[in-house]
Amino acid sequence: MAGDGFEAKDIFNQMTGYTYNDIILMPRYLDFSADEVDLKTKLTRNITLNLPFVSSPMDTVTEDNMAIHMALLGGIGILHYNNTIEEQVEMVRKVKRYENGFINDPVVLSPEDTIESIYKIKTTLGFSGIPVTEDGTLNTKVIGIVTNRDIDFEKDTSKKLKDVMTTNLVTAQEGITLSEANSILRKTKVGKLPIIDNQGRLKSLLSRTDLKKNRDFPLSTKDANKQLRVGAAISTHEKDKDRLAELHNAKVDVIVIDSSQGYTRWQIEMIKFIKKTYPEIDVIGGNVVTSEQAEALLKAGADALRIGMGPGSICTTQETMATGRSQATAVYHTANTARKYGVPIIADGGISQIGHIMKALSFGGAAVMMGGLLAGTHESPGEFFYKDGIRLKKYRGMASLEAQKSGGDKRYFADNSKIKVAQGVVGAVVDRGSIDNFIPYLSQGLKHAFQDTGFRNIKELHDGLVTGSLKMQIRSQSSIIEGGVHDLQAVEKNPI
Ligand code: NAD
Ligand code: IMP
Repeated sequence: MAGDGFEAKDIFNQMTGYTYNDIILMPRYLDFSADEVDLKTKLTRNITLNLPFVSSPMDTVTEDNMAIHMALLGGIGILHYNNTIEEQVEMVRKVKRYENGFINDPVVLSPEDTIESIYKIKTTLGFSGIPVTEDGTLNTKVIGIVTNRDIDFEKDTSKKLKDVMTTNLVTAQEGITLSEANSILRKTKVGKLPIIDNQGRLKSLLSRTDLKKNRDFPLSTKDANKQLRVGAAISTHEKDKDRLAELHNAKVDVIVIDSSQGYTRWQIEMIKFIKKTYPEIDVIGGNVVTSEQAEALLKAGADALRIGMGPGSICTTQETMATGRSQATAVYHTANTARKYGVPIIADGGISQIGHIMKALSFGGAAVMMGGLLAGTHESPGEFFYKDGIRLKKYRGMASLEAQKSGGDKRYFADNSKIKVAQGVVGAVVDRGSIDNFIPYLSQGLKHAFQDTGFRNIKELHDGLVTGSLKMQIRSQSSIIEGGVHDLQAVEKNPI
């Protein structure tokens, strides 16, 4: 009906740029339950995801643990490259060889460590039951395990683990299947089962807690060999062709060319090089925010585009460089261009609410990439710390001075100029629990959002965007305030 909202083309072809909070979607008739909503989507030309969620290639967001859990849950993780080639490639290998249930990178201690270290791990990582190996590293002989029961009544926390650990171990041999290992856990009632090779060296660990959770992951993102899928980021520097070759050997599924401004000679050449040399790897180009930028990368052969210049929660690009675009407008225009090539786009940055995800998809995104929202989960790199009684984790921009310094030569990051200019900041985000709970929460919320707009899946939503059956309206500043929580004396916070 006339006046019942406006089509996206009318909203986004104005002089003002808009972002998610500026716009509200109009509700439509619905006659289906949230469970009937299907969030399946395309990450790239050739890769399908069951959930439209991607974790960002940042060194406080995505390493192997995040990538494993993102893929198990139905999304995908993109490994950062603020590291050596060997470190990044090892992470790809860990994801590719992950078997649900086995902890392939367990925390281990040495017999010379003290009870104090167990308490430290308990506080920062939240678990206990730590295997003790000869020299405190994985792949050496396991000689004991320290559980809560071993230290419960020990007052002297400086006591060495060799004096308190349990040495009568129940172990299983490498190669054992998950169900065989689980049945040992069940029968022996131990809390942790070290998996060892024929020389007694610790290879992985199985935890009773995981068994109790009895998770299976019906939505997981897998390749044709039933291995989890994983992406990795590289730069446009010539030197990263070595990185690319090693990532290809490790069977990476998708490469993200990581840049704030992707419309460069270097990126166009890199996309062409990858498509010619490794046609089996899909390439996500970016970042771009205009149709002209998008068209150039699509013509070069990009299999998906990453959209966003400046919307990130740690980003100072728009302030410092005076360049970028309001994210909703950027998503809409680049999606229009990519659609002509049959290529999906990923809305990257600025997602801090379930509603932002819904809007990113409504304006043409096929998936969203998240940094800050996932940085506070247990699966991100880094350890929790307390400030003013709140449990936090560090989150920093990849173009912050700190991240540039820590990457250094390893990464060949910024150009070689002596003066480095920051385009990001260092901060902290609150503990959001495990993504094993957080991603299903986001996905359930998103399904309810789809219900309200009357669309059952992302394809229907995009059709609604193109045909104009999806209607929306710009919000005034006061209606944005009205649409949030207001006029309360106290508020109990939701997960987001
Ligand atoms: P970049 O690697 O694209 O650029 C770094 C510098 O290297 C630039 O000066 C670039 O012009 C130069 N350069 C790139 N390839 C080159 C080549 N082959 N030869 C010579 N010079 C070359 O990285 P960036 O744009 O500075 O971004 C750094 C990190 O920060 C990335 O992780 C990026 O995602 C993130 N970031 C993102 C945004 C955003 O809004 N999405 C904004 C700023 C930074
Ligand atoms: P967030 O989800 O809002 O926290 O944004 C994450 C996105 O910000 C990433 O995926 C990158 O595109 C972008 N980004 C990462 N590091 C920086 C930085 O240092 N400056 C600007 N943007 C960044």
